[in-house]
Amino acid sequence: MKTLYNFSAGPSVLPKDVLLDAQKNLIDYEGSGMSVMEMSHRAKEFDDIIKKAESLFHAVLGIPDSYKVLFLQGGATQQFAMVPMNLLAKKGKADYILTGNFSTAAYKEAQLFGKQISIAGNTKEENFKRIPESGELKLDPDADYVHICENNTIFGSKWKYLPNTGSVPLVSDMSSCILSEPIDVTKYGLIYAGAQKNIAPAGLTVVIIRKDLIGTPLPGTPTMLNYKVQAENDSMKNTPPCWAIYISKLVLEHIQKLGGLEEMKRRNEAKAKLLYDYLDSTDFYKTHVISKDRSIMNVTFRTGNDELDAKFANESKAAGMSNLKGHRDVGGMRASIYNAMPKEGVEFLIEFMKKFEKENRK
Ligand SMILES: *Cc1c(COP(=O)(O)O)cnc(C)c1O
Repeated sequence: MKTLYNFSAGPSVLPKDVLLDAQKNLIDYEGSGMSVMEMSHRAKEFDDIIKKAESLFHAVLGIPDSYKVLFLQGGATQQFAMVPMNLLAKKGKADYILTGNFSTAAYKEAQLFGKQISIAGNTKEENFKRIPESGELKLDPDADYVHICENNTIFGSKWKYLPNTGSVPLVSDMSSCILSEPIDVTKYGLIYAGAQKNIAPAGLTVVIIRKDLIGTPLPGTPTMLNYKVQAENDSMKNTPPCWAIYISKLVLEHIQKLGGLEEMKRRNEAKAKLLYDYLDSTDFYKTHVISKDRSIMNVTFRTGNDELDAKFANESKAAGMSNLKGHRDVGGMRASIYNAMPKEGVEFLIEFMKKFEKENRK
């Protein structure tokens, strides 16, 4: 098989060991005579898988019993609607902090449901090259919740502190940073993540919600978009995304075997440091995000010349690396270096960048 380092922002690289394990069990899951793709979601085998996946989320992320883990569909984007539908019933007010396109999309979606959806911070004027400082935030102590996007997949920035929301629940879109490092779940009211970056293949959305926030949706909330219905049915009101849940279980077992989230953090920081140290050592490439707010999952940079950036994308592909072209909103390049990207992949990229610099420096 051709070796290829896949820097895709999502769906993205999965651990090779997990894929091999899935392959081994593809046709006959642990002697059941069936693939996980073929079995009833009410079968004993699948019941064991989803229960194990839920308990692994608790174990790996340190989620207390006062929170419920839900396995949903519709992507992180559906949570842009589901969060306000389920959390806005008290005051109808929420604060959104805009740090990129996903938080902006979440803000716009919430306006469909609330009478007072406010922008409590926004770095759009600087093309989202940084996260607002705590002093810049205008938080309403009377809001139903505060929403942030913790790692900005497209722009390459990351919240390194959490806004002090007092008793107002903090809602975080962690699609592109979940499982990359330990977190203190008790600081959040709700966490959500599309699975296709660091958890599993596309089709699964994980929601971690504090139990006291479940149960008061807006009138008219559809059954399947009601957290209470999903929680009471352990995510099995209807057919859940069985295959993606199964892979999430394998990914969590894999993380546990490697040493848990402390070890993931150590590895991810080491990989990101290699890349940022190189980027800081040359003026040929420039990073999009200011140094202190840089993501360790999505690294954005450019040469400052659109033609050269396009050449970089083409030549890096020919050299054995895919998906390094940046998102159209930022331009330049983006290297997504999620949990499953090996250090060798980052070293390979840096060698290519050095060569490209030498060949193209004027
Ligand atoms: C990818 C991504 C989304 C969109 O996820 P879907 O599952 O495609 O809806 C939302 N937020 C963030 C931070 C993302 O990285």
